[in-house]
Amino acid sequence: MSNCFILLAAGKGKRFKSKKPKQFTNFINKPLFMHSVDKALKSRLFKSIIIVSNSPIRNIRNKSIKIIKGGKERYQSSKNAINFIKNKNYKNVFIHDAARPNFSIKLLKRLHSNLKNNKAVVPFLKTENSSKYKVKNKIKNLVRDNLLFTQTPQCFDFKSLYNLCKTNNEKVTDEASIFINNNQKVKFIKGENNNFKITTKSDLKKIIVRNFYGIGFDIHRLIKNKKLYLGGIKIPFHSGLKGHSDGDVILHAIIDGLLGAMRKKDIGSIYPSNKMKFKNIRSPNMLLPILKILDKNRFFINNIDINLICEKPKVSKYRNKIITSLSNLLNISKDQINLKGKTVEKLGLIGKEKAIACETIVSLNYYA
Ligand code: ZN
Repeated sequence: MSNCFILLAAGKGKRFKSKKPKQFTNFINKPLFMHSVDKALKSRLFKSIIIVSNSPIRNIRNKSIKIIKGGKERYQSSKNAINFIKNKNYKNVFIHDAARPNFSIKLLKRLHSNLKNNKAVVPFLKTENSSKYKVKNKIKNLVRDNLLFTQTPQCFDFKSLYNLCKTNNEKVTDEASIFINNNQKVKFIKGENNNFKITTKSDLKKIIVRNFYGIGFDIHRLIKNKKLYLGGIKIPFHSGLKGHSDGDVILHAIIDGLLGAMRKKDIGSIYPSNKMKFKNIRSPNMLLPILKILDKNRFFINNIDINLICEKPKVSKYRNKIITSLSNLLNISKDQINLKGKTVEKLGLIGKEKAIACETIVSLNYYA
């Protein structure tokens, strides 16, 4: 495998009407351009990903991702990236506009398989609209069946693209244009209707995001000589929660809520209490595999509402600490989490400070 994915994210996006360029706007928990990066990573087709950007990008720890500076125009940014990888021996290169986050991994794979017998493969769509063409003040009719609207990602044999780009100084809007200007063959394959370009803010609303909800509940007995963990942090208290793990009711109820929303059974099916290897496991470590399932299936946390049901400790005293801990563990912002404390009028086991319970409702976004 010797493919490189170039993501052009240096555009200004004047029509987006925002201080941030549109590709940096937050879209379900991450900057828009990161959705393209994630899909490229998930396809497992690429040895490296080059992001071309004129804005600083932080917090990228994946070593296969490099960030380089772009030019003023799109074709200059693309040229920068092509020059950056010229000695890296990639056979193929994919070039993609960050303003199109909505392509499928299937499209990447179809492009790649078509590249075996071609030097340039480009997705396109036809139009249903009757089409006209303006030359000076005259309007002419066009045969719509002959019109091709090209999309990205586009993919190329690297050497062929490099040689053509070296001499190109035209302000082209995609790399297919360079091939066509030089009378080189381009293989056109069917693009995707969903793979539209985000130009204005209302385009974001066209992206189909589905919502799923999950409910979680947990209760553990309080016992002496055990530390109390709630929401991943230690809370000073006279007792701790008894359990196969550290008994963190908040994290367990969140895990069940997450699994419920994904329709993936419950915490017990992943961590059976008869398995010795899970004995005394810390709950943040139980959360990690669940977050991986979330990510793998393209679910994103929208919000979590939590009821912690106990007489003591007082939730108000630890609310901020617990929410900060949960936001770090779940990789979401604090304003996506709400924590309420509920007492039970000193009734029953909970009222007598012999148990703590927790219930949650989790809302997830699903975006393919
Ligand atoms: Zn539990």
